[in-house]
Amino acid sequence: MTRSHIPVASPAFAGNEQRYVLECLESTQISSSGKFIDQFERSFAAFTDSKHAIACSNGTTALHLAMAALGVGPGDEVIVPTLTYIATANAVTFCGATPVFCDSDETTWNIDAGKIESLITSRTRGIIAVHLYGHPADMDAISRIARSRGLFVVEDAAEAHGALYKGRKVGSLSDVATFSFFGNKIITCGEGGALTTNDAHLASKIRLLRSNGMDPTRKYWFPVIGFNYRMSNLLAAVALAQLEKFEWHQARRWEVASLYQEILSNHPSLVRLPVEMPDVTHAFWMYSVVLKNHTADERCELIARLAKDGIETRPMFYPIHTMPPYAGTRRRLPVSEQVSAAGLSLPTHALLTKDDVRFVCERLIVHAQELTVSTRTAVVAPACVPVQI
Ligand SMILES: *Cc1c(COP(=O)(O)O)cnc(C)c1O
Repeated sequence: MTRSHIPVASPAFAGNEQRYVLECLESTQISSSGKFIDQFERSFAAFTDSKHAIACSNGTTALHLAMAALGVGPGDEVIVPTLTYIATANAVTFCGATPVFCDSDETTWNIDAGKIESLITSRTRGIIAVHLYGHPADMDAISRIARSRGLFVVEDAAEAHGALYKGRKVGSLSDVATFSFFGNKIITCGEGGALTTNDAHLASKIRLLRSNGMDPTRKYWFPVIGFNYRMSNLLAAVALAQLEKFEWHQARRWEVASLYQEILSNHPSLVRLPVEMPDVTHAFWMYSVVLKNHTADERCELIARLAKDGIETRPMFYPIHTMPPYAGTRRRLPVSEQVSAAGLSLPTHALLTKDDVRFVCERLIVHAQELTVSTRTAVVAPACVPVQI
């Protein structure tokens, strides 16, 4: 059977995107002031149950702004999960501070709150909790540790728009939270980001730093050194249109995830499925599975075979502590290393049909069965080429 390409992620435009972008062009309001930025920030604050939302240029700059606004600097340490996108750690490094890597929880793959305390030193300033693949981190346990040790907590919610933790929206569960609207995220404007906080002082500091440090009451006067990390009105127009249709985007993802769950749960010997803890609502940015009885090379071969079927998949994030810029300490973080080596993210986006999902499952099962340890002999595994995010 020949099929068209099934990408791992895709934007979906189901609302006012075109109309709002045209409005920007017609009004010439394409730069970093305009009504869509204001509307998007107001709507996103409401969406995350936060007092303040600040739009910015992407999820990486959002993290950098959060670290800078919290005063992270040289000599400081910030505890981050090792199993996440590289930007979580880089934002700490950008400030001259050191990310300290924490292992993952076996069940949720998020930062293991039980392993945080042993990493705290006199230099520790805070913790970044990542809601990996859309599953909220264990925020109560993390906040309890942070409060008792006087640390800040930042949520990296780049993958978790709309996820709930004990009935509360992610983005409202920490000192400041960051989001991404990159092309493969749950809602997108191509490149974009936002921060949310209930702290008015932090919010104004973030606004100051976002715009080169310019005094909001005295134009072209710069009391501090800042960055140009603004979002344009053109992109805010797209982001606002996406946010207006959020429930549609979320419902489509949940349909995809539950069909994967329904089909793949019949194959417990082949794949471990993502869990959804009883007190959370998973956003399912990526439906990721962990292969059972497969080596890392077999995982790579599986990715290559699925690609031949027209199905794009991604290896799970490589643990950051194993990558060249951060590999210095050579510490082992065994849970992350094991999950990462066998983890696979399946196509998850709003444009997938039921037939697409069934086809992905069918081919995944066929190849995974062929590639189990028991039949390993004939496999020639290619080097695993890291896939672009
Ligand atoms: C995507 C992502 C980011 C970075 O967002 P960009 O908009 O691509 O800069 C940061 N953290 C996590 C966990 C992400 O998935």
